[in-house]
Amino acid sequence: MSKVLIIGCGGVANVAIRKCCQCDDLFTDICIASRTKSKCDALKADLEGKTKTRITTAQVNADDASQVAALIREYQPDLVMNIALPYQDLAIMDACLECGVNYLDTANYEPEDLSDPAWRTNYEKRCKEEGFSAYFDYSYQWAYKEKFEKAGLTALLGTGFDPGVTQAYCAYAQKHLFDQIDTIDILDCNGGDHGYPFATNFNPEVNLREVSAPGSYWEDGHWVEIPAMSIKREYNFDQVGQKDMYLLHHEEIESLAKNIPGVKRIRFFMTFGQSYLTHMKCLENVGMLSTEPVEFEGHKIVPIQFLKALLPDPATLGPRTVGKTNIGCIFTGTKDGQEKKAYIYNVCDHQECYKEVGSQAISYTTGVPAMVGAMMLLTGKWNKPGVYTVEEFDPDPYMDALNQWGLPWQIDENPALVD
Ligand code: NDP
Repeated sequence: MSKVLIIGCGGVANVAIRKCCQCDDLFTDICIASRTKSKCDALKADLEGKTKTRITTAQVNADDASQVAALIREYQPDLVMNIALPYQDLAIMDACLECGVNYLDTANYEPEDLSDPAWRTNYEKRCKEEGFSAYFDYSYQWAYKEKFEKAGLTALLGTGFDPGVTQAYCAYAQKHLFDQIDTIDILDCNGGDHGYPFATNFNPEVNLREVSAPGSYWEDGHWVEIPAMSIKREYNFDQVGQKDMYLLHHEEIESLAKNIPGVKRIRFFMTFGQSYLTHMKCLENVGMLSTEPVEFEGHKIVPIQFLKALLPDPATLGPRTVGKTNIGCIFTGTKDGQEKKAYIYNVCDHQECYKEVGSQAISYTTGVPAMVGAMMLLTGKWNKPGVYTVEEFDPDPYMDALNQWGLPWQIDENPALVD
């Protein structure tokens, strides 16, 4: 029996909520709260009669910690699942601390307003000291570690697929397959086709900020940064086929570099088709990816937010997306003195996801691990006060739950390596 407050009701939250409702012995009570309450009410109406979970809804602006705290006091949840946007992470963590509730999310903090002078000063210092220039990093949330420890509360960061499941794969490889992991290549392949010339699979603003930024990887104890999309490889993915993939900066590299002892190199690759890249480059060249407000006919508009309004809502891609995703990690290292390699991955079919929960596979592969992470906290399987990423916990119950709840994984002991 548990009571969970879920903040956000977009593409990923829709899947997480539907999956929680499939497991209604554990998720007995859910409050769906978001900026637009009508979306929460519509989901509640759709789920009623299909689950024993008691669902309530609420309106909340999660940028405001005091609003979230008021809602927590009223609802008294055991856990807050933040499936809104990375911009709200700190406000929701503050509210959880204030009210004494555990926390989880699916993406690490980044500010909505990149021109905020206080944030900029920190950001520029970090770029110089650390050597990567992504707008997001873990420092803001890791700074809450002591507060959560003292309060006896757990914050589980980034329990989506990547970050999230990819780190569980790393912890599993570390625990069961290797004595020493030398290299990790995280490969995120979406072989799906939605038929639009250009659309993103999750929140367009967050997605386009991420993929248009310089790439970086971890090697021999430091970051190496490269121009956006300047390292390209081809890979033949199981059940998807040959795809071009590009090296990106990605948040789990930062925590894995700290938590996988002696790892020499960690890279992240994502597949993109030529049409996606051409559209993105063009939009970037004309300034449509900018986060700086511009004056237009007496209004201030932020170009990337205006673009979001024009692009298809990722939550609507489900019925039209066909094909599969294949996401996983390739490891090299040693076991019992022998060199070894292994590839742990999941293949997910867009249409199968749509049949089950009405969403495409990107929302599915993120929403299921959010629910699985919540299960770990609510059942006490993962329970240590502080702020942690997925690889810092025992991977076994999480990996078992992935198999049970729709994201089965497999291990290839002889994969092709990425050069
Ligand atoms: P959507 O844009 O579809 O949904 C975001 C939801 O948050 C919407 O319901 C939105 O409300 C709500 N929201 C936004 N701002 C606020 C606010 N201030 N107060 C309350 N609610 C708010 O995003 P996605 O579902 O695609 O993504 C959700 C999260 O998952 C993001 O953080 C994303 O980065 C992360 N993600 C993680 C992945 C992983 O593998 N780890 C992969 C993909 C996504 P409204 O309806 O009013 O806009």
